[in-house]
Amino acid sequence: MSRCASIIENNPNTKLVVSSACSGVTNLLVELANGVQDQGKRQQVLEKINAIHEDVLAQLKEPQETKQQVQSILDSVASAAEAASFQSSKKLTDHLVACGELMSTYLLTQLMKERGINAVRFDIRDVLRTDGNFGKAEPQLADIFALAQEKLVPLCQNYVVITQGFIGSDNEGNTTTLGRGGSDYSAALIAESVQAAGLDIWTDVPGIYTTDPRIAPKASPIPEISFSEASEMANFGAKILHPSTLVPALRHDIPVFVGSSKEPEKGGTWIRHQVESSPLFRALALRCNQTMVTLRSANMFHAYGFLAKVFEILAKHKISVDLITTSEISVSLTLDQTDTSGGAPELPEAVRKELEELCKVDVEHNLCLVALIGNNMSESKGYAKQVFGTLEDFNLRMICYGASPHNLCFLLDESESKAAIQKLHLELFEQ
Ligand code: ASP
Ligand code: MG
Repeated sequence: MSRCASIIENNPNTKLVVSSACSGVTNLLVELANGVQDQGKRQQVLEKINAIHEDVLAQLKEPQETKQQVQSILDSVASAAEAASFQSSKKLTDHLVACGELMSTYLLTQLMKERGINAVRFDIRDVLRTDGNFGKAEPQLADIFALAQEKLVPLCQNYVVITQGFIGSDNEGNTTTLGRGGSDYSAALIAESVQAAGLDIWTDVPGIYTTDPRIAPKASPIPEISFSEASEMANFGAKILHPSTLVPALRHDIPVFVGSSKEPEKGGTWIRHQVESSPLFRALALRCNQTMVTLRSANMFHAYGFLAKVFEILAKHKISVDLITTSEISVSLTLDQTDTSGGAPELPEAVRKELEELCKVDVEHNLCLVALIGNNMSESKGYAKQVFGTLEDFNLRMICYGASPHNLCFLLDESESKAAIQKLHLELFEQ
């Protein structure tokens, strides 16, 4: 948190800071929200959350008031956790997990003040209006714009405003969240609504790499990347940015910088509209926990309307589809990650039943999606051979190519996924 404070201090153009929860806190809150029955265990989780905040409080010169503010939130966490142990719900989960950001912003504001910065804490629920879809709420842009102009813009003229990422509120005043990792998205929405000149995202990695360096140690940093490439990367599971983050920035053409708050001196990646180089291969992303659904119907042969019926059922149940491939009598698709849980998305029983009236339904788990991201891929010759030649020993389950000029992606079994990334990185990026 001190490092974050220094980053803010070092850039006098910083007018507004969007903070996530202290590290580890949201996970603990999710645990409570899922319902911890045993009172002793619940107490242990609460103590862990408390300890994380105590560590920061202990570094403050004048912790008294902040301590009380954090404590009162912790009290509400305790009672909500007890309620969740009887009956958990998405609404209660959002109420609980939002507390991480509500606490961290008290700490950060006080820290900034003690460093002589004219900081003020702002409750973003007064601006960030969403629908009531708890766990993955949809921002209501027109309301957010109007409220930001009314409440945030004037405040930014006199203060460095410290506010919460990840959380919002619906029309009835219930707390909502934008989905795990949503702070980046919040920051982008707020940047857009106050018409910021730039958005810096300080996360825990020094920018975007050609792939995850934990998988391929020779992965190298990318100094500059276009919005389209970066969006593909975020969508395809490079966990650096929440997938929706770049949408608002792109809409208002706000340049985005991504760097590490742990090592700010290492620099980072600029994401812009126009970039100097657009290489064929830019990066490799990996997203696991994929669920693939295959639908087969003999009636599909030369028929029309089958896919329309399938998607009507999916749409009715608000199932978001990610990748699709089709053949004459079957269609395979992967399900989008939809909520806070982070696990593999499931095809709900009700949806399966409805689909089964139409066709045969198979569901496969433990798949990972590998995405190769680059430029002009649908117009370039010969590289598919290079990619698939490299992977000749791998069993590929599904291949998507051609719809986007910026990616080629495929599914394979989780057990093979890292090796596939390593081989491809070696072949395409380390030569
Ligand atoms: N604290 C939230 C989470 O852990 C939001 C974020 O970190 O961006 O998901
Ligand atoms: Mg986070």
